[in-house]
Amino acid sequence: MSVLIFVDQADGHIKKASFEALTYGAKVAEQTGTTAEAIVLGAVQDDLASLGKYGVKKVYTVADAKLDHLDSQVFTKVIGEAVEKTGATVVIFSNNTDGKSIAPRLSARLKAGLVAGAIALPDTSNGFVVKKNVFSGKAFANISLQTPIKIISLNPNSYKTIAGEGTAEVVAFTAIVDVPKVKITATNKVTGEVPLSEAEVVVSGGRGLKGPENWGMIEELAHLLGAATACSRPVADTHWRPHHEHVGQTGVKVAPQLYIAIGISGAIQHLAGVNSSKCIVVINKDADAPFFKSADYGIVGDAFDIVPKLTAAIKAAN
Ligand SMILES: Cc1cc2nc3c(=O)[nH]c(=O)nc-3n(C[C@H](O)[C@H](O)[C@H](O)COP(=O)(O)OP(=O)(O)OC[C@H]3O[C@@H](n4cnc5c(N)ncnc54)[C@H](O)[C@@H]3O)c2cc1C
Repeated sequence: MSVLIFVDQADGHIKKASFEALTYGAKVAEQTGTTAEAIVLGAVQDDLASLGKYGVKKVYTVADAKLDHLDSQVFTKVIGEAVEKTGATVVIFSNNTDGKSIAPRLSARLKAGLVAGAIALPDTSNGFVVKKNVFSGKAFANISLQTPIKIISLNPNSYKTIAGEGTAEVVAFTAIVDVPKVKITATNKVTGEVPLSEAEVVVSGGRGLKGPENWGMIEELAHLLGAATACSRPVADTHWRPHHEHVGQTGVKVAPQLYIAIGISGAIQHLAGVNSSKCIVVINKDADAPFFKSADYGIVGDAFDIVPKLTAAIKAAN
């Protein structure tokens, strides 16, 4: 018995969300009296032994060039084989692009119960009950997993990474790796930005900014704060900003430490994607904008007046 954590990587580097998943998985192992192990697919440049500091004892690697890019069918089969060979009874993913495409497939393959989007450690006092957000964050569900193998995908930014001491044993895992059925012919990468789903701080703009030409001040503020930029849906629909920045019910769901909403009304569909943020700051010229009801801090004022002042104050403080 063990807890197996899938470690996500991109271009040979481990993603931040994986450190959260590793810390979480190690804690689940402690709760269930088992050991935590990790699996990494594809070539990785990072020091895998150092993942021991998050509490995992072993890291399985499968270095096959066919695994350098995500193919969920191929990945699912390899992870399924690892679960069977290692005897893992709990499998942990991050609830990000990779986790969302692999975890459900693995669940079907292993006939294992899955909780997608967990936000807390399982309650193991009476069974194995995992908490998640439902109805766009308006309620919680506590789901009892009763299958012998249990799968959890953890929402990014919902469990704090804790790094201690320790070194993991890195073990090459031999698996049959299928040839992907899908061939990637081109990849267009967005470079130089903080990935939105993993960002600790998000600066987001809405229709109140009047047009794409005014996003310079949003980008400058985001840059100063090491933040990702985001937007409301109409902003993306009108092509002021790219669609991968659109947050909300029909867009990306974020849970940063700080979400700064500028010129966004706070429609329920927008809130659905951002209401798990730890601290929400709203800047809106309309004191009756609905977003103020969800805000921790609110500034009633014109964004074109407030944002430059905020930026200048941050620069002065640095
Ligand atoms: C099925 C469905 C799904 C949807 N999914 C999403 C979703 O995922 N994400 C999403 O965002 N929306 C979504 N929407 C749209 C949503 O209902 C709202 O229409 C949208 O969020 C409004 O965007 P906004 O706040 O940028 O624009 P507006 O509603 O036009 O609000 C602009 C705000 O800017 C303020 N403002 C104007 N000028 C200034 C200024 N100079 N300084 C400061 N403030 C100013 C205004 O007071 C106003 O509050 C969805 C709608 C539907 C029906």
